[in-house]
Amino acid sequence: MIIDILTLFPEMFTGFVNESIIKRAIEKDKVTINVHNIRDYSPFKNKQVDDYAFGGGCGMVLMCEPIFNAIEDLRKEDSLVIMMSPTGNTFTQKEAVRLKEYNHIIFLCGHYEGFDERIKSIVDLELSIGDYVLTGGELPAMVITDSIVRLIDGVITDGSLVSESFTDSLLDYPVYTRPAEFRGMRVPDVLLSGHHENIDKYRKEERIRVTREKRNDLFKGD
Ligand code: SAH
Repeated sequence: MIIDILTLFPEMFTGFVNESIIKRAIEKDKVTINVHNIRDYSPFKNKQVDDYAFGGGCGMVLMCEPIFNAIEDLRKEDSLVIMMSPTGNTFTQKEAVRLKEYNHIIFLCGHYEGFDERIKSIVDLELSIGDYVLTGGELPAMVITDSIVRLIDGVITDGSLVSESFTDSLLDYPVYTRPAEFRGMRVPDVLLSGHHENIDKYRKEERIRVTREKRNDLFKGD
């Protein structure tokens, strides 16, 4: 998979692509992540990319031309162009599973007051990461990229994905590691028993308990 990210602040992605699982996925050629500065596509003096809003109001608006130029340069036949936007559909695990099938995704990160409305005519999808407003689309693009890349075959151990929260209607079960007792808190005996059938049964029951307690909406399928 190739991911192109269009941003005014490319350096925000430096840590993201150079650490941990994303770094390894890049090294193993599971994904290529290219970060582009929208400013490089500006045809204007001083590489201008934003201007005042028609009709007044504070905050700068991202202009059409640099972004149209960038997308037209990067888009291929099978590309999906996604605009980061608080007014888009809310991103979910189900959407991550769908998006991992694409060969090429272009993320468009806004800043300031947002995008000139006409930019929406060249994007395929608008996605939000939740009902709150951030200063820019960089963190949302990282959130979505992260959740997609970890689902690509061979990026993390398959087994880790099986009982994960949001994969079906249940949250994940609780996990423990050494020591078996810490400050009076004991790991449930069944997990120390080595009896795999009982452990599976316990974990299934725990998934149900945790989901009913914390996210009854998921449990009921709302
Ligand atoms: N005026 C806009 C907010 C602009 S925030 C409004 O009220 O709807 C600036 C940019 O940050 C947006 O263009 C978008 O790219 C990004 N952004 C902010 N919050 C976001 C969210 N919850 N999900 C995805 N992108 C977001």
